[in-house]
Amino acid sequence: MTQYEAIIGLEIHAEMLTNSKMFCGCSAAYASAPEPNTYICPVCTGLPGAMPVVNKKAVELATLVGLALNCTINEHNTFARKNYYYPDLPKGYQISQYELPIASKGYLDIDTPSPLAPLPKGEGNDDSLRPAGEGSGMRVTIRRAHIEEDTAKLAHEKNSALVDFNRAGVPLLEIVTEPDMRTVEAALDYATKIRAILRYLGVNTGDMETGVLRFEANISVRPVGSEELRTRTEIKNLNSFRALTRASAYEIERQIKVYENGGIIVQETLGWDDVREVTVSQRGKEDAHDYRYFPEPDLPPLRLDRAWIESIRAQLPELPEAKTQRFVTQFELKEKEARFLTSEKALADYFEGVVSKSKSPAKTVHSWIAGEFMRYINDASMDVKDVPVAPESFAKLIDMITDKTIGASAGKTILTELFTNGGDPAQIVKEKNLAQVSDEGFILEVVTKILNDNPKEVEQYLAGKETILQWMMGQIARTTKGKADPNVARELLLKLLEERRK
Ligand code: ADP
Ligand code: MG
Ligand code: ZN
Repeated sequence: MTQYEAIIGLEIHAEMLTNSKMFCGCSAAYASAPEPNTYICPVCTGLPGAMPVVNKKAVELATLVGLALNCTINEHNTFARKNYYYPDLPKGYQISQYELPIASKGYLDIDTPSPLAPLPKGEGNDDSLRPAGEGSGMRVTIRRAHIEEDTAKLAHEKNSALVDFNRAGVPLLEIVTEPDMRTVEAALDYATKIRAILRYLGVNTGDMETGVLRFEANISVRPVGSEELRTRTEIKNLNSFRALTRASAYEIERQIKVYENGGIIVQETLGWDDVREVTVSQRGKEDAHDYRYFPEPDLPPLRLDRAWIESIRAQLPELPEAKTQRFVTQFELKEKEARFLTSEKALADYFEGVVSKSKSPAKTVHSWIAGEFMRYINDASMDVKDVPVAPESFAKLIDMITDKTIGASAGKTILTELFTNGGDPAQIVKEKNLAQVSDEGFILEVVTKILNDNPKEVEQYLAGKETILQWMMGQIARTTKGKADPNVARELLLKLLEERRK
């Protein structure tokens, strides 16, 4: 049977977090509008004669993203009309950028290993741009990023459709890759990294369930070894990573089956049915000429001068990749550990906050954050930025464990207390009498009692059932409310058990 490989190119639509809309002064905070059709004006509802004006903040944010993605920022920008009719598009066209986008030819490195086959030769596909080293991840080429505007929203009710123009004209950034990715994992890796960068830059919240960040997957398949680019389909409006991966995997399988049965793939736009988990045809795919693009006559070309672009570059924060590398060297973490901490800026900041206040090794801080801390906030569906425990308090708690003032299980109790009622860790230790005891006399008493009370278990252990040891440690922890130093307890336990062997 023929072996196939997938070719994936992603388009991402990201709303940009500006106060006002792209071409008028209306508020862009449509999600918190009091009512439909309140954040509107003649410009964003497409009344004849209304004149658009470019939102400077949106241009700044788009530039920031372009620079973060290693793109060339074009000094000469133009806007274009992309003509199509749909009830959510009041003007009958969308103002976009066509020939001269704000950013072009960049790249983003991902960790998912290089594809099997070399990239197709062509514009923007330069194998020499790939980072060195097999299996060390790959470089996804960004073809372009351009500014456009969002559409209105339709609500379907019984026999009518209602239009809310509050979202019409909200600034959008579209980021388009070359067809570089070869696996669903690579596409997911890329999408995850783009989302993290947008969040780091404060350009987008990344809250995909609200529709502020949408993916489109362009997919084709071909026999492994072939260099041709076959006809692709495009799956629109993927609103979650789950939808992105499921839809892509489904579409790859579907296309392979079509070829295996001797069929052909037609270029079309598909939707993803989340319930039935299938792609469904929406329409034949338009080509650029179908949109009758032409220069927007109401907007002059937008010129960005070099000095201004450089001033935006100076605002670039440390991005996830750089932060990861710094964490690895500065805190001696494994790359995987660092990557987890830098996946979100708020989490990375929290970690650094704790480390700077703590005397414990950064590794220890990492394991408490990756473990108990994450478990807590996941269970509570809490955002890292809303965590009520100050990094200082968490640092104190971890230090008390490091210097053996308390045991790990008391640490968990205190963390829960900090999350729910706040307070000072040292105070909580006193109030709840949680201090760890390493006093041998005390622990010896407890261990002796447990052995005397459980002769059957002692016998089983002596007969070779070593797992009983863990159970006994559990009994010790329970009897002492976790206060017995586990190392001391374990040593004594082993010693007393051996004595009973004689
Ligand atoms: P448009 O959507 O405007 O028609 P393009 O056809 O140039 O633009 O490409 C859109 C997206 O489709 C890009 O992300 C590109 O990488 C991807 N793409 C183009 N050709 C293929 C193909 N044969 N297989 C998979 N993806 C493709
Ligand atoms: Mg497209
Ligand atoms: Zn408006």
